[in-house]
Amino acid sequence: MRDLSIYIHIPFCVRKCLYCDFLSFPISTGNEKTGKMSGEDIESYVNLLVKEIEEQSILYKNHRVISIFLGGGTPSLLETVQLRKILEQIYTHYTLSEATEITMEMNPGTVTEEKLREYITYGINRISIGLQSANNEELMRIGRIHTYETFLETYRMARRVGFTNINIDLMSALPEQSTASYRDTLERVAALGPEHISAYSLILEEGTPLYERQDSYSFPSEEEDRQMYLMTGQYLAEHGYHRYEISNYAQEGYECRHNKVYWQRGDYVGFGLGAASMVEETRWSNPPDRGQYAEYVRTGCVLSAGCSGRMKPPESPEMDRSEQKRTAELSEPEQAAQPVCPQRHQITIHEQMEEFMFLGLRMMCGVDRNVFYQKFGQKIEEVYGDVLQKLCAQGLLLKEQDCIRLTERGIDISNYVMAEFLFD
Ligand code: SF4
Repeated sequence: MRDLSIYIHIPFCVRKCLYCDFLSFPISTGNEKTGKMSGEDIESYVNLLVKEIEEQSILYKNHRVISIFLGGGTPSLLETVQLRKILEQIYTHYTLSEATEITMEMNPGTVTEEKLREYITYGINRISIGLQSANNEELMRIGRIHTYETFLETYRMARRVGFTNINIDLMSALPEQSTASYRDTLERVAALGPEHISAYSLILEEGTPLYERQDSYSFPSEEEDRQMYLMTGQYLAEHGYHRYEISNYAQEGYECRHNKVYWQRGDYVGFGLGAASMVEETRWSNPPDRGQYAEYVRTGCVLSAGCSGRMKPPESPEMDRSEQKRTAELSEPEQAAQPVCPQRHQITIHEQMEEFMFLGLRMMCGVDRNVFYQKFGQKIEEVYGDVLQKLCAQGLLLKEQDCIRLTERGIDISNYVMAEFLFD
């Protein structure tokens, strides 16, 4: 049986954060309608999801599910009965491995102790809380819905009900953020002892409100952002976390299985609006338009063969959602011209090699020479000999017996290193 990971996209949030370009919609809180998702919309979305999960299951009878990731959006906004319906559909129609990692993303203040208790009974064994910063002014500037105190309440409730595997998301390079305030966030978070910490730099995405008002703030310089990155690795290492991927840190034994599938190019299938999949070297994405997604599911989730365009692999669930958003941003006529049937793209051998390198190198253990040979029937040096030699000579890569990995300097300019592995 082949291993499979499942991603489920829940595309709604209390309101949009000011920097957010993910495919998610604010929920309606009462009378206002425009562009917001009502309770009814959410219920129909859940019904589409469960139909899609069942329809697609026929394709995965020879797969064993090793991880499930409920991402968004804010999955914790689902009613528990809706969440149970989704998970039960997976449990009924798919074979799970003995220790499937089941992660649910949540935002502070969107759960109660009772809800969290129910999550455990549904099999959720890992939660990921979006904190971003322990400084309330920084949170306010980026439009988060919560304060640090609300986060603490959610975190403590999760511990109380028995969650033993918790990730906390952090962000650096926030408006008006200083290295001292970032350090304070790191100290507070590490003192709580979550099993996993993800720390990304804010990227100002065109079209977001924060992008539009960027001139009103001063942002940390590139050098300060770099210092924050170095500080993260150093501080967390001193407090029991090892960096296992460029932006991810874990206590021993708590690396995120689901994320590793993306970086190691395992099979994953995405359900829901705009969700991306890659199974047996074929890639496709669900329609990012709500009407088209509904049509796709209602007509039996048919994928059409062939795709002329190249599709970029997501580097992580976060990247995956940015990709979804890019397609969602198409104008209405452009969206209408998009096929309702997602097109399959057969990943060429060259693309597979490129992805093997630039996704694999994101991990601190690097890429394994033997796996490269098993996959492609050629030694890594036969394909990338010159590039490897150059990058090693520049002190950006390190060749070890079985693996090739980034050096500290290579991590610093990883975009340059990764680009060297592209064929054209
Ligand atoms: S950043 Fe996350 S929580 Fe904020 S609007 Fe986007 S998806 Fe929702």
